[in-house]
Amino acid sequence: MLSRGGVIGLTTAYLLSKDKSNEVTVAAKHMPGDYDIEYCSPWAGANYLPVGEPGTAHCEWERNTWPVLQELCKNHPDAGIHFQRTLVHNRSKDAESATGQWFKELLKPDPWYKDVVPDFKLLPKEQLAAGVDNASSFTSVCINTAVYLPWLVSQCLKNGVVFNRAVFKHIADAANAHHSGRKADVVVNCTGISARKIGGVEDSKVFPARGQIVVVRNDPGVMASISGSDDGEDEVCYIMQRAAGGGTILGGTYQRNNWESQPDPNIAIRIMKRCLSLCPDLVGKDENGKQRGIEGLDIIRHGVGLRPLREGGPRQEKEKVDGVWVVHNYGHGGFGYQCSWGSCAESTKLVAEAAQESKNKAKL
Ligand SMILES: Cc1cc2nc3c(=O)[nH]c(=O)nc-3n(C[C@H](O)[C@H](O)[C@H](O)COP(=O)(O)OP(=O)(O)OC[C@H]3O[C@@H](n4cnc5c(N)ncnc54)[C@H](O)[C@@H]3O)c2cc1C
Repeated sequence: MLSRGGVIGLTTAYLLSKDKSNEVTVAAKHMPGDYDIEYCSPWAGANYLPVGEPGTAHCEWERNTWPVLQELCKNHPDAGIHFQRTLVHNRSKDAESATGQWFKELLKPDPWYKDVVPDFKLLPKEQLAAGVDNASSFTSVCINTAVYLPWLVSQCLKNGVVFNRAVFKHIADAANAHHSGRKADVVVNCTGISARKIGGVEDSKVFPARGQIVVVRNDPGVMASISGSDDGEDEVCYIMQRAAGGGTILGGTYQRNNWESQPDPNIAIRIMKRCLSLCPDLVGKDENGKQRGIEGLDIIRHGVGLRPLREGGPRQEKEKVDGVWVVHNYGHGGFGYQCSWGSCAESTKLVAEAAQESKNKAKL
């Protein structure tokens, strides 16, 4: 079995490796520690703000991922995840914007996930900021991806997974990269945005939603987001402090079909201004009691990641490509972490089916 080095590939590899009869190789162009525009996972916040529509697989993956993230938070501090008090603000006027559509389920006053996350409450009208039509508070989590991705690697290594660097032109070629030297029975395709161009897949339904962020040292005291902004229909505002000294992520943008890898300085300024207006405590007041501006932010770095979106939703199915069983699992847009455990558990079932069909269950 072969997987990839993003959160989807690593989670799948870990789940497969729990069955000792599986021999798992992770072969990828990018691995945890790398920062590259083709590699989305390190750029994510990452938090758990459900956006799947009820009745979809996406929604079920989010529902099934929460208990695992909660357990990791409670009992595995080494995974780099912590609980955060969370505020979600909605302006009805953003409903038709790119960001309002993205957050449609998240923003509902009576969302499906209210019984999944702890402490869900609607904020009383008198506590709403000007222009906000409804808001909720609950307990969610923030993942320090710089700790969490290597943690996933370490869990895999403990279970005997072998990691290799490789770049494949065609998905079927991946079957020849199994560490045993034998041909892998199943290839798991978790190539994210590259599913658009890798041979044997070339999925034209995959496209990016560009996310620009600023990482700062300031402590916001709360994890907060809002449905949109007056700066543009694909510019948004969210703030989250990563666990274990990972800094605070200020976002962001949701620019569909924009492949630009470099941070735009004008967008960066707008992101910082929006975050301060949503959460003035990020910088606090000066010695004269005057609210400070963005000069009070202590910037660690600017960043850009491409969320791997797919028209019609993520692709999760098995298919024989040039005689090789391939299980596809890509297209998780801006929700790869919050879907990961649910989605990858489903992939492992498809891997078992594919292995069965290839009549060689012993070597995966
Ligand atoms: C700014 C930003 C904020 C985000 N915030 C959140 C959040 O708060 N919560 C959340 O759940 N999600 C969030 N996301 C989304 C999340 O990051 C993605 O959904 C997730 O990282 C996708 O993971 P992946 O494993 O599918 O892809 P990737 O992380 O891109 O991994 C793809 C892997 O496939 C390998 N690969 C691709 N092609 C080849 C090839 N030809 N040969 C060999 N290897 C190959 C790559 O090298 C890499 O290892 C955010 C994203 C961004 C950009």
